[in-house]
Amino acid sequence: LRYGIPEYRLPKEIVDNDISYIQELGVEIQTNTPVKDLGEIFNQGYKAIFLGIGCQESMKLRIPNEEAKGVIYALDFLRLVNSGVKISLGDRVAVVVGGGSVAIDAARVSLRLGAKEVHLVCLESRDLSSKDRMLAQDREIAEAEDEGLIIHPCLGPKQILTKEAKVVGLKTIICTSVRDVNGRFAPRFAEGPAPTIEADTIIVATGQRPSKVIFKEIEKGPIQTIKVDPTTLHTNVEGVFAGGDVVSGPADVIAVITAGKQAAISID
Ligand SMILES: Cc1cc2nc3c(=O)[nH]c(=O)nc-3n(C[C@H](O)[C@H](O)[C@H](O)COP(=O)(O)OP(=O)(O)OC[C@H]3O[C@@H](n4cnc5c(N)ncnc54)[C@H](O)[C@@H]3O)c2cc1C
Repeated sequence: LRYGIPEYRLPKEIVDNDISYIQELGVEIQTNTPVKDLGEIFNQGYKAIFLGIGCQESMKLRIPNEEAKGVIYALDFLRLVNSGVKISLGDRVAVVVGGGSVAIDAARVSLRLGAKEVHLVCLESRDLSSKDRMLAQDREIAEAEDEGLIIHPCLGPKQILTKEAKVVGLKTIICTSVRDVNGRFAPRFAEGPAPTIEADTIIVATGQRPSKVIFKEIEKGPIQTIKVDPTTLHTNVEGVFAGGDVVSGPADVIAVITAGKQAAISID
């Protein structure tokens, strides 16, 4: 909440108020405490554990030169900005890859940091009635365009262009279809003239998933989401519950609060 969602969408004061309210109810919060071993928590005398660890790993583009200087993942970018780190995009051109809400947030934050131009390249269509429409909400797309965002729909990233290991542009490829007849993500591409966009920074916003290496004893699904009983949110490990993005994949605040309440009932 604090490090992903930009201030203009969710003011930190609101987050602080909610945290104070939870503390007043008697919850003790330990920050800067990464948990690596669930057994250690049970050894401290706790009877149940709720895993609400979210989706912390950014999906990679898997195209040439992704490791170049100037490529940054949207979560890392927003985390830096939300932590108060001074990033200047001043006279630089940023390209955001992705068509969802996180991509739009990264693009709008780039514009607000003063980037000279911000381009958004996405597989999806700008036609919001299409089956292949952009995933971001209509209103946020319109607001971003009003702020100056240039959207390049129906394009995929093909290659990051570099000079001396530093980003200088993005070569694209035409995307003819994003989802199959069953609505599954199955992008199809076609050869043909597609633009190359000059850029100093490429922000990758093509999705997140739970960390691969965490809590090996917990049963996981295809993108490392934790498997739970849909009613109790209990995992395969006795006394361990899970909910929120780490179970559903990236969702929204209301859905994860609902999961927290649902798990609390089971734990009780
Ligand atoms: C850029 C962006 C914009 C968004 N905008 C909106 C919006 O406008 N409206 C909306 O409803 N939703 C929005 N969302 C989605 C929303 O933020 C998430 O759905 C929600 O925060 C998920 O909550 P969660 O508790 O499951 O996980 P998270 O909020 O990701 O929290 C997980 C927490 O677990 C901690 N953690 C992870 N691993 C460990 C470990 N091993 N030990 C200890 N702690 C650990 C993390 O540090 C983090 O504090 C946005 C998301 C992003 C990224």
